[in-house]
Amino acid sequence: MRSPTVPATLLLAVLHCPAQAPAPAPACRQSHEKLHSTLWVRTAPEYRGVAEQSYRIATERLEAALKNRKWTAALEQQGRYERLPPAVVLDIDETVLDNSGYNVRVIALQKSWDNPTWFRWVEEAGAPAIPGAVEFTRYARRRGVEVFFITNREAELEAATRRNLEQAGFPLNPKIDTVLTKGEKPEWTSDKSVRRREVAARYRILLLCGDDLGDFLSGIAVPPAERRALAARYSANWGTKWIILPNAHYGSWEDALYGFDRSLADSVILERKYEALARE
Ligand SMILES: [Mg+2]
Repeated sequence: MRSPTVPATLLLAVLHCPAQAPAPAPACRQSHEKLHSTLWVRTAPEYRGVAEQSYRIATERLEAALKNRKWTAALEQQGRYERLPPAVVLDIDETVLDNSGYNVRVIALQKSWDNPTWFRWVEEAGAPAIPGAVEFTRYARRRGVEVFFITNREAELEAATRRNLEQAGFPLNPKIDTVLTKGEKPEWTSDKSVRRREVAARYRILLLCGDDLGDFLSGIAVPPAERRALAARYSANWGTKWIILPNAHYGSWEDALYGFDRSLADSVILERKYEALARE
């Protein structure tokens, strides 16, 4: 059981409370930082609307991309790619599969993400599809477009991931590996650019779909302000070549708040987040 250990002085700074002495520390409500994001995804029609909107835009952009042979969504696409067969590249977690059910468990336990509970969740292969994702990928296949999934799920979780994708209704090509997991090859690290480059060597990448800056770009493990500048630099790609789904649960945006240092204790990470409220 963890409880937030927020320094009273920090909370006062965040809340712009006058520093009166002796001031009682504000009562901390016992909550969990994933409560709202999880409820939003699981109960709000607004979330469903955003997801369906994203995949409807993706479907429209697919047609434009098919017609224009110079079109590519991947920064890694080089050389003479105009005659290559078309493909789309999608992330998996919070892009095509909804893992909010995992959060429900984590919240109930008052814990944070960890490998054993996550692996158990993935092995169960019961994550539902994000609204609109199955319809989009099936449409792409009908239009002769290959559908690749580039995920930072571990290679040892690929069989369970394939099972989940198939059960949820996603098309998987039985002839080639279209589920590219982290560590499947030694050079396939959490930076997805190597895997995008491999797909781009054989296919013209029409669209990238993801929930994280890393699903589109390399070099995203930098402080929040630099990340915002990166996203702004490629502003023209959002909603045209890059389709982004909302993920307020977690992601590299969150890792950036504590310097991407996952060796830090859970309580320290929570403190860094409160510090970010005052700093960013
Ligand atoms: Mg994801």
